[in-house]
Amino acid sequence: MIPVLIVLNAGSSSLKFQVFDMVDDAEPQLVWKGLYEGLGGSAHFVVKDNDGAALDEMTWSSGDRIGHEEALMHLVSWLRSHQEGRKLAAIGHRVVHGGQSFSAPVLVDDSVVEALEALVPLAPLHQPHNLEPIRIVRRRLPGLPQIACFDTAFHQTQSDIASLFALPREMRDLGVRRYGFHGLSYEYIASTLRDYDPRLADGKVIVAHLGNGASLCALKGGVSVATTMGFSALDGLPMGTRCGAIDAGVVFFMLREMKLSPEEAERMLYTKSGLLGVSGISNDMRVLRSKAASDQDARRAINLFVYRITREIGSLVAALGGIDGLVFTAGIGENDVATRAEVISGLSWAGFSLHEAANSAGGPQITFGTGPTAWVIPTNEELVIARQTGRVLDATRERLAS
Ligand code: ADP
Repeated sequence: MIPVLIVLNAGSSSLKFQVFDMVDDAEPQLVWKGLYEGLGGSAHFVVKDNDGAALDEMTWSSGDRIGHEEALMHLVSWLRSHQEGRKLAAIGHRVVHGGQSFSAPVLVDDSVVEALEALVPLAPLHQPHNLEPIRIVRRRLPGLPQIACFDTAFHQTQSDIASLFALPREMRDLGVRRYGFHGLSYEYIASTLRDYDPRLADGKVIVAHLGNGASLCALKGGVSVATTMGFSALDGLPMGTRCGAIDAGVVFFMLREMKLSPEEAERMLYTKSGLLGVSGISNDMRVLRSKAASDQDARRAINLFVYRITREIGSLVAALGGIDGLVFTAGIGENDVATRAEVISGLSWAGFSLHEAANSAGGPQITFGTGPTAWVIPTNEELVIARQTGRVLDATRERLAS
């Protein structure tokens, strides 16, 4: 029997999954991937093979009341009827916040669930959705090992100074500090650098994770030394619908002068800002690019996005004391030729020279000459969760055997 892992990434109304074969010490092999969306309403399930060919699909009406629990049990029974020669060994979960105590993936038990629940106030919009399937599996499939893998853990290598806010000490005691996110993506990129250029693996690299959520991470020798996201996933770069870094005074203005409730202010900053807010059109870079020539607001949103990326890269170059390489990843970073060209053009002062044909072709290397290099590297957060889950399972087995 080949042991298999399910990797889960749960959102408020969605459940993304990937299933990996785990053969001895080999790299986890993707077998199936898919998604449940519209949970709680009219739900839809699709599963594809590792080449992206659809294998199965199903739609439920809202009257069927398909929520996360029903979706998870449907997935497990779908697996049972398709997994010939395979046996479900564990589930690896993406969990957005590991707080100060979780600097590595962890086998879930009662005390871990309790500790993760205590972190909900630090990530109230995401953490509860990540914990929901963990609770469901403990109830419905007791005995199945579950491993929590954190978006924050990769940044625990940052110095005390890099993670500090200039706030009174008691705020830090409450856990108010810079954590950083997108750590699973950065860990994947750090793990691939040597395949592209050994100098990158050992050197000073900035990774630009530009998706609907967006952040930058400064790596020294593959280790995180600084990042643009802070206490929450709202900080740093403007994103699809999130504002990125703003003066905290704006929040007081929203509460005091505009009389918004904290929830209304939060909704504005998380869901109505960023590319969507500035353009008034869309959070989708493809839509904005298609309108940029004729629509000033679409152009303005893109220009602000690129300007902020370029400025923050300057700040991270200072934190690193130089730069050897820049990596673009995630939806915009991997696909938007123009964003890459505009960012690199804004970095000519640092010695980057764009290779236009290579950039149009999608890389991997998109610069030429003797200066620092820029690259396009597709990220793979699910593979990192599968690797981490496999490692925790092995370590647990060894501990039990000794
Ligand atoms: P998420 O953070 O939700 O995982 P993604 O990494 O999928 O987001 O990135 C979504 C962003 O990537 C959207 O702004 C989308 O427009 C952009 N994107 C995806 N494909 C392309 C493309 N071919 N050209 C330009 N932008 C793209």
